[in-house]
Amino acid sequence: MSGTNKSGNRTKQNHLNRRAAIRERCLNCQGGGANRVTECDHDDCPLHPFRTGTGKQNPTDRKEGIKAYCLWCMCGDRKEVNLCPSTSCPLFPYRKGGLSRL
Ligand code: SF4
Repeated sequence: MSGTNKSGNRTKQNHLNRRAAIRERCLNCQGGGANRVTECDHDDCPLHPFRTGTGKQNPTDRKEGIKAYCLWCMCGDRKEVNLCPSTSCPLFPYRKGGLSRL
C-alpha cells in the first residue's frame, strides 16, 4: 500500500488513518482499556461501530462518524469544529471530513 507506513495505519502525512485514529480515540476515552472499548455500551456514540478498529468498515459511514463525533464534541457548533485547537487529538485531521492539517 503506497503512501502508508509498514503497518499500514498511517497516511503519507504521517497521520493515523481513520480506522486507527478512531481506535486511538476510543482507547483514550476508556483510559487505555482495550476490553472496556470492546465492551463500550455507548451505542449512541458516532464512533461506536468503529471502536475496535477491526473488521469491515464502510469508509463513508466512518468518515461521517468522525464528523458527527467532532460536532458532538464541540456541542454542535461546526465553526468551533473548524477552529478546534486540539491538534494532538487523533481525529483532528479528519474533523472536517477530508484530511486537513489546520
Ligand atoms: S465508542 Fe465512543 S464512548 Fe465508546 S469508547 Fe469509543 S469514543 Fe468512547
